[in-house]
Amino acid sequence: MMNQLLKNLNERQQEAVQATEGSVRIIAGAGSGKTRVIAHRYAYLVNVLGVDPGNILCMTFTNKAAQEMKHRISRLVDSGLVTDYVCTIHGFCVKFLRKEIHRLGYPKTFTILDDEDKKAMVKRIMEAMNIDRKKSTVNKHLAHIGKTKGKMRMDYVAQFMLPHSKAEPKADMQFFCNYLKEQLRLFAVDFDDLMYFTLYILHNFPEVCKEWQSELNYLQIDEVQDCDADEWELFTILSGGLGNLCVVGDPDQAIYEWRGSRPQLFVDFHADTDIVLNQNYRSTPDILDVANAIISHNRNRVPKDLFTEKPRAVRVVHYHADDDSKECKWIADTIAKAVKKGKGTYGEIAILFRAAYLSRGVEQELIKNGIPYAVWGGIRFFERKEIKDALSYLRLIANPNDDLAFLRVCNVPSRKFGKKSLEWLMRRAENLEQPMSLYETLSAFIDSPELRRTQMADFVKEIEAGRTLIAKGCGIGSTLDQVLTSSGLKEEYRSDEDEDRLENITELLHSIKDYENSLRLGEEPVSLDDYLQDIALYTNADYRNNEDAVKLMTIHQAKGLEFPYVFVMGLNEGVFPSHRAIRERLKAAEEEERRLMYVAATRAERELILTESEGYSAANQCGKFPSRFLMEIPENIIDVKRKIPPHIYMNAKAMIDELNDQLGIESYDDNPSSEVPASAADDGAIHIGDIVKHTVFGQGTVVGVKPNGSCEVQFASGVRTLLPRVLTKE
Ligand code: ATP
Ligand code: MG
Repeated sequence: MMNQLLKNLNERQQEAVQATEGSVRIIAGAGSGKTRVIAHRYAYLVNVLGVDPGNILCMTFTNKAAQEMKHRISRLVDSGLVTDYVCTIHGFCVKFLRKEIHRLGYPKTFTILDDEDKKAMVKRIMEAMNIDRKKSTVNKHLAHIGKTKGKMRMDYVAQFMLPHSKAEPKADMQFFCNYLKEQLRLFAVDFDDLMYFTLYILHNFPEVCKEWQSELNYLQIDEVQDCDADEWELFTILSGGLGNLCVVGDPDQAIYEWRGSRPQLFVDFHADTDIVLNQNYRSTPDILDVANAIISHNRNRVPKDLFTEKPRAVRVVHYHADDDSKECKWIADTIAKAVKKGKGTYGEIAILFRAAYLSRGVEQELIKNGIPYAVWGGIRFFERKEIKDALSYLRLIANPNDDLAFLRVCNVPSRKFGKKSLEWLMRRAENLEQPMSLYETLSAFIDSPELRRTQMADFVKEIEAGRTLIAKGCGIGSTLDQVLTSSGLKEEYRSDEDEDRLENITELLHSIKDYENSLRLGEEPVSLDDYLQDIALYTNADYRNNEDAVKLMTIHQAKGLEFPYVFVMGLNEGVFPSHRAIRERLKAAEEEERRLMYVAATRAERELILTESEGYSAANQCGKFPSRFLMEIPENIIDVKRKIPPHIYMNAKAMIDELNDQLGIESYDDNPSSEVPASAADDGAIHIGDIVKHTVFGQGTVVGVKPNGSCEVQFASGVRTLLPRVLTKE
């Protein structure tokens, strides 16, 4: 039984599985079997040591990863049974609170607030406190509430969120306290509260804490590099009984520092047993070389000697396109051809990107080509709220009889046209002798006293202005841009700091302008009706739940997962690395973005394809240039399908230098340059992972190859950078 379980693991993995007692740290690179070890360790505890699954808590970071973990474990444990204690950290807090929250006077059926609920609550309080929405926005209040909770931690629970709390809020905390009071009235908690309520109970009810500690005999935490200090506190307390805590992670994959994760806690953790895994089982050496070349540019890291025994196969591909639509078209064509040839199935392919708005172009191409796809952990571009709203404005401009479009946007943004006013309008429209649409009825009765307190006259003006612009031959994109501006919708997103929505809207406007440019014949404008008809192909795209579908997701969503074929698209400076992040957090952000690139590259098993394009970036309002990460990959380990023109290289470098100068951050010595050697790989070329010999330093492993060809070699005495001619391959 034991042999069965251990036989599919290498020696170090076996050691990790069998190290069940005390604190254990497994620190290892991507694809080295960390998650596999956790699943086997769970099964080992149950099958071999006879531990009841109810006594094991196994936590990870995302819902998808938790599902995947459950699935892996259920195939390994004898009974096939897995408890609910294989979950995310927040998932655990929910289970804990359902059992224990009654101690704070809350019912176990407490409500969990999602983002929309929270926004609605803030709006209600703003109204009740007579706060002008122009002066202070919903998102600002929400951000402030989150920050205050993070600062006060369990204190805010004690002071304001217990039924008997009597603390009187200071004047500057009035809004915060009113919000908490409302939460208490509804017995509703948000994600922050899940953590702080749990910690509060564990700290203030010693007998409860003891009970859980004696129940949870074994704890395993995956992806621990992304945990914050509160999460560390939680699992440190919970494992306080027997002290059997196993933490697993990879500091090179820490990608949540921007929202408070503390990878250093993992690096500094002193465990009874420390295990390093260094064999990668996921990717080909060709993929690993690229991933290692990229991550070796980070200064703030501990170098690893990750290797693989897989045979060399297909080199990583880089494709450069003239513009984003050609980039997306090439991706769709490549997928269609590969699947047709029987090389793989749609379900084996993932397309990853840095920002959600980037999915627009590729979704359109996939739909055009009839390629089934699914957006994981997100919403299809044309189903996103702001996109549907924007298109509804256009539909109403094209056709005042479109009641559905009217209903979508008549009160977006708010024009004080609530449910009652709408009911009045609907009755009005129904009772007319000559039936009229809602919009027409509104225009006809705009002076009615029932509408006096609303701002619907402005709405009619905006739609009519749009119609006039279209009639005068103004472009569709420009018209929509003006309508979204005059309606106040853009401003609302901007002042709410709703960056995702703004990015999506910008992307839509950009795509409409592209569409018009590609179709415009002479001076004739493209007709709005034609556009709406064409776009309906995408907005009404029929999709069923199809297992065999290409998966689209942001890189953050892809963490911990693996796919045979991976495209990473939109590899442009500004987008990836995100210049917004770099402006905010300087070098720390650049390194975090590079780790994100490392995560992206290491998702691939068989083939990795990197794409980018030139042209204009609407999101960044500047020309598009290739990402520095692409230029950090030595040319001799990558298959460049279409070369980047030299002037684009130069401009990319100039852009990076300028940003660094502006922000006063250090450039790398080996900064990407246009002089990247165009050498193709020759037989004697040294690759990452190669074992090499040096006459003085002895044997070592190549851990990095720089663009100028020099190699970083890990010797027993440390890492040295050397010219390839002084090294002989073993
Ligand atoms: P990440 O850092 O991306 O989370 P990981 O270290 O958790 O990666 P896993 O997902 O556990 O790595 O493993 C990567 C792949 O390698 C999986 O498909 C896994 O089944 C396989 N694998 C790991 N160890 C072995 C082994 N000893 N024999 C065969 N396959 C293995
Ligand atoms: Mg993993």
